[in-house]
Amino acid sequence: MVKKIHRLIIASVFGLIALSVIQGYLIRNTYILEKESFINKANKTISRIDDYTPAVDSINEVWQTLFVKTLDSYNAKFIKKEDVLQRLRKITDSLNDSFVAEYNRELATKKLNYDLKFHKIIKNIVLYDSIHHDTIFKENKELPYRLLGDAFDHNGEHQISNSLWHTDRSGTITVNGVERPIGYELNFETQDYINIEGWQRIILNNMSLLLLLSIVIFAFVIALLYYSIKSLITQKKIADIKTDFVNNITHELKTPLATLSLATKILKNEPVVVNAVSVEATVNTIERQNKRLQNLIDQVLNNSLGYKEIQLKKERVPLQDYLHTIFDDFLIAVNEKEVHVDRRIQLTNEVVLIDKFFFTTALYNILENAIKYANKDVEITLIASCEKSFKIVIEDNGIGISQENQALVFDKFFREGNKEVHNVKGLGLGLYYTRQIIMAHDGTIKVTSIKGKGSRFEIDIPIN
Ligand code: ADP
Repeated sequence: MVKKIHRLIIASVFGLIALSVIQGYLIRNTYILEKESFINKANKTISRIDDYTPAVDSINEVWQTLFVKTLDSYNAKFIKKEDVLQRLRKITDSLNDSFVAEYNRELATKKLNYDLKFHKIIKNIVLYDSIHHDTIFKENKELPYRLLGDAFDHNGEHQISNSLWHTDRSGTITVNGVERPIGYELNFETQDYINIEGWQRIILNNMSLLLLLSIVIFAFVIALLYYSIKSLITQKKIADIKTDFVNNITHELKTPLATLSLATKILKNEPVVVNAVSVEATVNTIERQNKRLQNLIDQVLNNSLGYKEIQLKKERVPLQDYLHTIFDDFLIAVNEKEVHVDRRIQLTNEVVLIDKFFFTTALYNILENAIKYANKDVEITLIASCEKSFKIVIEDNGIGISQENQALVFDKFFREGNKEVHNVKGLGLGLYYTRQIIMAHDGTIKVTSIKGKGSRFEIDIPIN
């Protein structure tokens, strides 16, 4: 059973790990999909502005016309290569403010709930003629050459498209009265980028319900597993305790039953039956064993009562006398010489309202255990006081109770599973019953103990 529980725990842990990996994978995929769809939407918005805004179109036309003229001058060798990009910069700088303004005006009509920025960068500018090709600009990842649009950080950007502007030029141009031929093909590659402020947060916000549900379901599964395993362990403990009880009671019943059977055999024996002394002795044995059996049954029946079933008949009890009497009687019942009791009774004339019969039973159970579970010389310390409440502490120097079992000793049928305890007779009902009696008095009982050194039981009874 223990192995089964271990296997179940290991399987559950693996199951949970697998579940979290799958869950993590699904969440990651959802995140990627959400990101793609989010960027696609932004992309569509930008494309629509690009395609359907006449003002943006005409700005594009203006810079392209001006730039082609610059290239014509370059191709006809009126200007140098370095001047081409400088002129392009001048042209686009002069147009960029109106370009951005047009874009933003259009963006405002789309009523987006995030801040969308856009720009075009130049990837390549290459001129081809019949003999060779001439690279005017080559993309540089570190320092992208912004053509038009907003300035934004390279880190948070997303590329949304690539475009190629191709045009053929041929003919002549005249500059300052000088006419020269031109002839080239232009390949002008650009890339469009967008930047959305806090896009991760926006995507996570969109996924918040999914994330929340995942966490809740995950927590629910863990709680369910924890609860199932815990109740399985409890069930196992209860099953063990019941088996122990059956073993204990069978053991207790064996001796009187064997004696009774022997006595019956003796009484069937003729020479014994005629001998009055033998008959009397045997009948006495039968009586004693019968009483023992009766006691055992009473113990099981009475000591199994719950605190609600205990009917108290409370009376005013002068504490000092009461406690001394209990200890005197107890010392007479056990062999006084073997037991040393240190009484620290800090009481004068205090009187409390308790059921003397039940309360005595409760104290006796603790005192008897101090003898049952003793090491060699029994030392019992009794501390009693009555201020705000009536407090009794009974300490012994016995075998002690392990830390993990201290909370269990008040459970019905619980006995520690070690060898020392199994050598001592018992049904595991004494402390259970003691606690029920104390609870019926609205009090509390607790135990602290050090294995091998002794145990300390503390009873606290309210006096109002
Ligand atoms: P029983 O004595 O019949 O087994 P109890 O309910 O009185 O039943 O005690 C429950 C268990 O608690 C005992 O079996 C023993 O393991 C442990 N125990 C109780 N009192 C002491 C004690 N004073 N010292 C050590 N162990 C104790």
